[in-house]
Amino acid sequence: MPGKSTITVHADRDVRPSRAVAPPIYQTATFSAEDAETFARVAVAPRGQDFYTRFGNPNHAQVAAVVAELEGTEAAMVTASGMAALTTTVLALVSAGDHVIGQRSTYGGTASVLLNLLPRLGVSTTLVDQTDPDAFEKALTAKTRLILVESPSNPLLQITDLRAVADLARAHGVPTLADNTFATPLNQRPADFGIDLVWHSATKYLNGHSDVCAGVLAGPAETLNRIWDVGLLTGATLGPIDAWLLLRGMRTLPLRVPRHNANGQALAEALQDHPAVSRVHYPGLATHPQHKLAADRMSGFGGVLGIEFAGGFETADAFLGRLRHARRSASLGGVESLAVHPASMWRGMLSEEQIAASVPPGLVRLAAGIEDTSDLVADAVAAADTLLAPAATA
Ligand SMILES: *Cc1c(COP(=O)(O)O)cnc(C)c1O
Repeated sequence: MPGKSTITVHADRDVRPSRAVAPPIYQTATFSAEDAETFARVAVAPRGQDFYTRFGNPNHAQVAAVVAELEGTEAAMVTASGMAALTTTVLALVSAGDHVIGQRSTYGGTASVLLNLLPRLGVSTTLVDQTDPDAFEKALTAKTRLILVESPSNPLLQITDLRAVADLARAHGVPTLADNTFATPLNQRPADFGIDLVWHSATKYLNGHSDVCAGVLAGPAETLNRIWDVGLLTGATLGPIDAWLLLRGMRTLPLRVPRHNANGQALAEALQDHPAVSRVHYPGLATHPQHKLAADRMSGFGGVLGIEFAGGFETADAFLGRLRHARRSASLGGVESLAVHPASMWRGMLSEEQIAASVPPGLVRLAAGIEDTSDLVADAVAAADTLLAPAATA
């Protein structure tokens, strides 16, 4: 089995081989066929790359080849965004009358699918405390058709025992879908624990340069074919150039992730005892309530940390304004550090009760980029120092 860097550089080599060292961009909406028989065959080839770009494109197939090998799954597919990967999967696997289990601490868009979209389509949902594996079992009903997990979760960095949930789901014949965006396949491979399907906002670490919105989904070929069939109807197709940029970004994923991990760890350690900070949520800290489980499941803890300020909503917002390197922006996983204050960012998206149930008001999500560790730490500590009353700094 080749190493991760060899995979990201070479795993797509047999997909549309070319004498060009950098893969060509297949900027075409459609493909021609020699004869009627070939045309009929390529039209129905699941996740094909020769018929019409909504059905598949060589640039999609190249990304998919790398993702499948990185995640250790049989196959993968590409979508126009992370949310497209989620909604296409959900639409393919559940119908009115079914039941879906998700987590209480989860990405805002996933929460909205669980709380708003699915109930409107007649699918009931239960959101559980992911830190308690028994909670998933208690939520199971005879109608449960899918379990959605996310570990570490956005933005609270809670850990799900992927193995326990996968075992439980398999025992009941229920498929599992894991959001692996925060961990990346470098730090954690959900399929190794028995999770069936893995999705990513490839917008984040996989692409890594904050210049593309994309999604990927990895899993067994047969299940992906069913999801791809629905994807033809939802039409959430990634443009060929964006797929090409995503592949280019992924080439350096194994170089970037260790730096994100180191920066996340250093920031968490530097801020956890700061007097303006009440708590740092980061699975790499020994004080994280699930540190042991995280250390058992992950080979690195990622670049995202949750910093809770004792001063609450206003202090969190002030901290953001005083960072010099990290910009206020709703993404993560790029080479540059970004930070958000979820309680203010979500004001227009979720109800007040939903926000209160999801995040503490004084929480900042800091996503460390790949800048020099010492610069990021000095900047974050200096920003936190400005929040202290003069008496406390003296
Ligand atoms: C950003 C994000 C998503 C959504 O992905 P898009 O590419 O923005 O659609 C899903 N899950 C997590 C954990 C994310 O951070």
